[in-house]
Parts: sequence; structure tokens; C-alpha cells
Amino acid sequence: MVTASKQEFVADTRPGQVPDMPVVSGGLSPCARITQARQILEQVTDPEIPVLTIADLGILRDVRWNDERLQVVITPTYSGCPAMQAIEQDIKAALARHGYTQVEVATQLAPPWTTDWLSAAGREKLLQYGIVPPAGSASRQGLRIPVTHLACPRCQSTDTKEISRFGSTPCKALYKCNACLEPFDYFKCI
Ligand SMILES: [Zn+2]
Repeated sequence: MVTASKQEFVADTRPGQVPDMPVVSGGLSPCARITQARQILEQVTDPEIPVLTIADLGILRDVRWNDERLQVVITPTYSGCPAMQAIEQDIKAALARHGYTQVEVATQLAPPWTTDWLSAAGREKLLQYGIVPPAGSASRQGLRIPVTHLACPRCQSTDTKEISRFGSTPCKALYKCNACLEPFDYFKCI
């Protein structure tokens, strides 16, 4: 059925009309497929923080072609993160839109994800979104919470304090700025 609809599509294509994306079965080499799949995957966003892509988060570990199937390897931000199931579905849906239907999403737990894997672009996007990115690296010191003297994302005051160890998600802590009185999320260092 896939072959039949593809033939129809090709027959309907008039000169000057370019199909928006090549169909996977159309002779792309495994290497080209991986490159294309990676470009698609880099647009998949995190359901909890929609400004971040899974590439920004650093949870997209590998994309490979294995036995006629596309294998996508991801590492959860923390074990039992409820967003991972949604991310897996989003990955499959995004790839399916471009003709990749044979997709396996594998979870790799080691080495564990740390906030050090957040890209520089990802940290910048977090701040623009009003969430303070993890301070420092995930060293022992970084793990110590509450973190003090976080700069408020709105007024930059460092007169801030933690009001809840767990914010809107377990990845975040809730802080309040004593200067502008606005609460804000802090993406914890893990
Ligand atoms: Zn403030």
C-alpha cells in the first residue's frame, strides 16, 4: 500500500513541484537517513519545557540505522521522569510524519544524564523562558541545595530564596525574589 501511494504521488508531481520531504523508501543511503532523522529529531521539544528541544537538553544520545529500523537512543533526565513517555511518542510521531515508521526508541541509563549536558543554547533559552538554568556543574557542590544567591531572571537581584524544593516538576525548585517579589523556577543541578 505504501508503494502504491508513493507511485501515485510521483505521478502527480508536475515539473517545478518539489515534494516537501523525500519518502524514506526512495533510495536514501543509511547515512543520509540518519542525518535526516537527526534533523527531524532536533526539532522535537520537551513536553515540560517546550522552549527546549531534546537536542538542547542533551538527552538525544544517538541515532543509528539497525537492521532496516531506525534506532533512537535517549537518556532520561532522571529515572522515572514522567515526561519520557511523552518524549518517546513525540519522537515516533515526528519521524512518522517524514515516512519513518520502523522506529525503535531505546533508553540508555548509563552514563546518567546530568545538567552538564544542557547545551549553551539550551541554557540561554531557559533563562529567556524565566527558568534559571543550573548553576555551575553537577559536581558535589552543585548538588547541594538550596542554592543561594541565584539571580532573579526578571530583575537580576540575587536576594532570592528557595520556597519549595520541588517546583512545577521534580526537576525544578521554586524560588522567590525578595526584590521584585516574583517567584521563579530553578532547573536543579543533577
Ligand atoms: Zn526579581
